[in-house]
Amino acid sequence: MYNKSLNELSAALHSGEVSSVELTQYFLDRIKRYDGEINSFITVTEEQALASAAKADKSIAAGQAGKLTGIPMAHKDIFCTDGVKTTCGSRMLDNFIAPYNATVVEKLEDAGMPMLGKLNMDEFAMGSSNETSFYGAVKNPWDSTRVPGGSSGGSAASVAARLTPIATGTDTGGSIRQPASLCGLTGIKPTYGRVSRWGMIAFASSLDQAGVLGRSAEDCALLLEAMVGFDEKDSTSVERDTEDYTSTLSKPLDGLKIGLPKEYFGEGLDAEVGKVVEAAIDEYKKLGAEVVEISLPNTHLAVPAYYVIAPAECSSNLSRFDGVRYGYRCEDPQDLTDMYMRSRGEGFGSEVKNRIMIGTYALSAGYYDAYYLKAQKVRHLISDDFRQAFEQVDVIMGPTSPVTAFKIGEKTDDPVAMYLSDIFTIAVNLAGLPGMSIPAGMVGGLPVGLQLIGNYFAEGRLLNIAHQYQQLADWHQQVPAGYTD
Ligand code: GLN
Repeated sequence: MYNKSLNELSAALHSGEVSSVELTQYFLDRIKRYDGEINSFITVTEEQALASAAKADKSIAAGQAGKLTGIPMAHKDIFCTDGVKTTCGSRMLDNFIAPYNATVVEKLEDAGMPMLGKLNMDEFAMGSSNETSFYGAVKNPWDSTRVPGGSSGGSAASVAARLTPIATGTDTGGSIRQPASLCGLTGIKPTYGRVSRWGMIAFASSLDQAGVLGRSAEDCALLLEAMVGFDEKDSTSVERDTEDYTSTLSKPLDGLKIGLPKEYFGEGLDAEVGKVVEAAIDEYKKLGAEVVEISLPNTHLAVPAYYVIAPAECSSNLSRFDGVRYGYRCEDPQDLTDMYMRSRGEGFGSEVKNRIMIGTYALSAGYYDAYYLKAQKVRHLISDDFRQAFEQVDVIMGPTSPVTAFKIGEKTDDPVAMYLSDIFTIAVNLAGLPGMSIPAGMVGGLPVGLQLIGNYFAEGRLLNIAHQYQQLADWHQQVPAGYTD
């Protein structure tokens, strides 16, 4: 049961082979059995999950069910869930019970999916290893001494260990694709604005985008279909209808033009990872694709520009956590200033504080032009690189992460080494493009991801390109040892 696709689970539910209550209980039991080791859940919502499973069973029996009805799932703890603790991985929100559902949560609830719980993540989604969480590091199911990637590390680890069939995540600079790569999963970050950000706790609003971490492109297509669409509550939501991603999965790839940016295959890329990625691209040639070398000349500016823009936006977004309205408040404040200072000082962890300080500095009078404005100009150059590339090719491919899963603690003292984990993913967010990572092989028993980057709103095409590869290769079917019974 643990390794069934969403389509297989749906068929089992509709044929009566299993009920949603049984299926939900089955995954709750796996969480109890395995999550002590992995630490992927912050909150397990057992009662609520079983109640919505019972409701799903009724609608299946009444013939009113959709494809996803009754299939359990879990949310990254960045999405507000009505009546359920929503922490964003921070002590600041350890006592926060959200008073409403995020649009994404609402949509998946309407689709009839029981929520198993809320998943661990880097604090306020800042990190690449899930080590900045107030709730402790998440372990990679492929090797528990290693990180699962971040910031959607709980989402990735829980799906990899088959504790949930599928999960949501968010990607501001790589936080869906990089953990998908490190845990052997398929992850998709849609075009900026395609999925509503309403009720998704903001980190860097011009970059944040919700998406999916699942096992296959087919599974991701099914969930993403239910998540996208215009939302008047989010002013950056794009007015575009929902789309049927599953019906185009089997389109042949004859004549597909793949661009390989030379900047993605140079310095910093582990040689073994590079070989796996090249071998996966060779498979695409068998599917009728043509490969062309391209250049994205401003790639080296993506990490520096991101680490001005993202902290600048976070310093503004996180100013709402002041100990007054909700969230953590220090004990016995002496006066207002003391309350602000200690509530924020004690409520936030060190990575979050670093970024607030950098962002506040970059936005301050006299430095704004030199840093923030300059970074925004660089952002244009990066978008322009992609615009020109997509005049020549249909999709861009390369590695998702320069290395496989690294050891817990290995990069915690070296922020620059940590920030370079996202060297291949960040430019995509700066340009607002859709991106995916798919499992493409192993190095030393650890998964390697292939990144696919599409033009604006090409989610359907990306899923199709990923699905075709998954018809040839079975990396996405592999389950880490120790989680197979
Ligand atoms: N690792 C990047 C950061 O720390 C990206 C995080 C994300 O995508 N949420 O900011």
